[in-house]
Amino acid sequence: MESTSIRNSYRILKANLFFTGLLSRKITIRKFWNIFVCTIAYLLKTKKSARAPFLLSLELWNECNAGCLFCRNEKGQVYNINPETPMVGSISKGKMPPDMAMEIIDQVKDDVLIAVLYTNGEPLLYQELGKVIRFATQRKVMTMIATNGLLFNEQNAREILEAGIDLIKIQLGGFTQDIYSIQIRYGHVEKLKENIRMLARLKKEINTPVLIMIDWITYNYNRHQIPLIRQFCDELGLLLSFRQGNPRGGLEDKEAPLPTTTLPMSCDWLWKAMQVNFNGEVLQCCEGVVWSNIEPYTTYKTGDRNIVSIWNGLAAQNTRQLMAAQGRKSMSICRQCQRAGVAFKW
Ligand code: SF4
Repeated sequence: MESTSIRNSYRILKANLFFTGLLSRKITIRKFWNIFVCTIAYLLKTKKSARAPFLLSLELWNECNAGCLFCRNEKGQVYNINPETPMVGSISKGKMPPDMAMEIIDQVKDDVLIAVLYTNGEPLLYQELGKVIRFATQRKVMTMIATNGLLFNEQNAREILEAGIDLIKIQLGGFTQDIYSIQIRYGHVEKLKENIRMLARLKKEINTPVLIMIDWITYNYNRHQIPLIRQFCDELGLLLSFRQGNPRGGLEDKEAPLPTTTLPMSCDWLWKAMQVNFNGEVLQCCEGVVWSNIEPYTTYKTGDRNIVSIWNGLAAQNTRQLMAAQGRKSMSICRQCQRAGVAFKW
């Protein structure tokens, strides 16, 4: 039965990803060691963590073609999740230069396990996506994207598969157009299904170990279609995962609200993962890209090549100390946050 919990630990996915990484020789003893040291640093709540994060998240571009209700308004303005400032108008949009993305990956290539090449935007809009993936693959860094899948075509799909991407997560919240379009303003589900079939075919044709996972966003209105998506994934040999949908943007009175209580446990992101926004701002985690007025650790500029020292720099140390001393109550961004463990949102 599908999970009704807001949080999904993605255990099966992580196990599969691990074997994919071994197969493609992107997982090394040094990377294991880095995960181990990050984990120990988190458990001991030390000011410094391992030499590098084991997860690197890059916001390549926060533009999107789908316009999901919970994410942005009809003008495409991204919602700000900081309740103390206006909901629209305070999250700026922009694109990370590919040289910056590649330079950051290059500095942590020996330690980082995976580079996550999206945060809030649609990665298929980023023309240099294949180039960045290929660069990471050549340096034995695993890569993944989460996409709405609507912009796939034979050319870009082939390009990123051949570049060596390890995981493609495709968001889906309806199997028929009437249900799909409740949450997604722009997009045709039949075209999306066609794209997914093409991707599954190309995976076989190219013979790549890439994992393709359908990420079913569960709402009350789409539960009855779960058997359909199960059958679809079984037929194509795709992974299927479930997580709770966010009702913001018009579904608040029909769907279960997201929890608002502050989680009692500390947060491991500060010791294990690094987020870089499109403009080079190095943030404590990916929540920061949609939280206005966040204080970045610093702003990275192409050519600085100091990402490792930022990771254990004073700003990062101070943030870890705050979390260690007072838990999530110490920062307003953390008070509302429901992330538990380094994984996708919910
Ligand atoms: S609690 Fe949430 S907002 Fe705070 S650092 Fe962790 S992931 Fe980020």
